[in-house]
Amino acid sequence: METEKLYQKSSTYLQTLCKEIPDRCVGSEGNRKATSFFEKEIYSFGWDTEMQEFDAIDWEDGGAILHSDSSIFEVFVSPYSLGCTVESQLVSASRVEELAQLEIIGKILFLYGKIAKKQLMPKNYVFYNPEEHQQIISLLGKGRPKAIICATGKNAALAGGVYPFPLIEDGDFDIPSVYMTEDEGNKLLPYVGKTVALKSISKRIQGKGCNVIARKGRNLNGRIVIAAHIDAKKGSPGAIDNTTGVIILLLLARLLEDYDENKLIEIVAFNGEDYYAASGQMLYISKNQGKFSDIRLNITVDGVGYREGKSVFSFFGLPDELRKMAEEVMNEYNGITEGIQYPQGDHSIFVQNGCPAIVVSSKWLIDNLESQQITHTSKDNVDIVDYHKVVEIAQALNLFIRKCKNT
Ligand SMILES: [Zn+2]
Repeated sequence: METEKLYQKSSTYLQTLCKEIPDRCVGSEGNRKATSFFEKEIYSFGWDTEMQEFDAIDWEDGGAILHSDSSIFEVFVSPYSLGCTVESQLVSASRVEELAQLEIIGKILFLYGKIAKKQLMPKNYVFYNPEEHQQIISLLGKGRPKAIICATGKNAALAGGVYPFPLIEDGDFDIPSVYMTEDEGNKLLPYVGKTVALKSISKRIQGKGCNVIARKGRNLNGRIVIAAHIDAKKGSPGAIDNTTGVIILLLLARLLEDYDENKLIEIVAFNGEDYYAASGQMLYISKNQGKFSDIRLNITVDGVGYREGKSVFSFFGLPDELRKMAEEVMNEYNGITEGIQYPQGDHSIFVQNGCPAIVVSSKWLIDNLESQQITHTSKDNVDIVDYHKVVEIAQALNLFIRKCKNT
């Protein structure tokens, strides 16, 4: 397929997935539209497809109000929180030790400072869950406050570019919570000990989601799994996180239309990288128990096509032969260079199960992981995408996979 046609395809896919479907977060109608669009498209290129379905919840945010006497504070509903209408004494904690000592039953709890520096991992999240996070969640669960108010700063690495970020984002955690900026938190501090009232309107909606898996070739010589997550954070069009990754899967499926070799190619649209429960990833892992050993390589595409800077391939545990082939491919494409290793993302599923992996991303994004303010926000829209880079990566991966067929 000529390059010009691939440009046209990417721009159409970008329109469909980012503009016509405004919300692709797991459990939403848009998410289901996106997965069924992806399945139909890839099936039309002659691939076998499988939809792996799971239960998921969507969330409706109706806003929140916090006040004490005549003072009103600006607060936001924590994603997937339950709603509430409560009034009680405000108590506060800025450190874990302080929280452990505090009587919080029936009170409204204010978390600020050190304890609120990093987004807490959801209580059932298995990939990465520091002991301190588990301890905080357990203290909150046992302490049973009526509601929690969190004042948070900037933490791009874990919360994307969102400020303030929700300290709690967990559909399995049932104490209602809201969050506010650090500045607003400083205004609230003098009210500790006084009575405050919080009304938060928030709804969990039961729904479904699915991974889409497409396969081509025969599994006689192992398989290569090429993955990109199709879900986006609520409120973000998710253009580079991760529509461009999904576009690469579609272009690649089209370029590999004639592929018929003894190494199976498995294309996976993961559903849940930006979802508190990572449901699609959990399901994929359970379906692949005992089968990771036949995966010769994982390629994860996430955050590609940002308009500034080059594209990067980052290598994780690659055998020499594969590494040499990847380098040969990079030499043929000027816009692609080697990137640094980093732990966050779907590739960790494969790396933790002993498979080599290549992560494809944008250099600018990786270099600015801690400070960027784009991903998970409305700024991650079609305007920041350079689809020439998207097409270049699809072409490079096509070449690479065809080189891999005999390894
Ligand atoms: Zn992502």
